[in-house]
Amino acid sequence: MKKPTRDEHRHHCTAKRRYRSQGDALDAALLAGVERKRQAYICALCGRWHLTSV
Ligand SMILES: [Zn+2]
Repeated sequence: MKKPTRDEHRHHCTAKRRYRSQGDALDAALLAGVERKRQAYICALCGRWHLTSV
């Protein structure tokens, strides 16, 4: 598995939905019924929370 480049990171960030808090991110995952498949993480680029797309 190759490491993503900085540009790929930025693309992921802009393509992903942002959440104000970990709770918001997890609530969104819960509503979508994917809380067991997603994890919330704080983004170093925008300082907001995203959900993993694993
Ligand atoms: Zn971000």
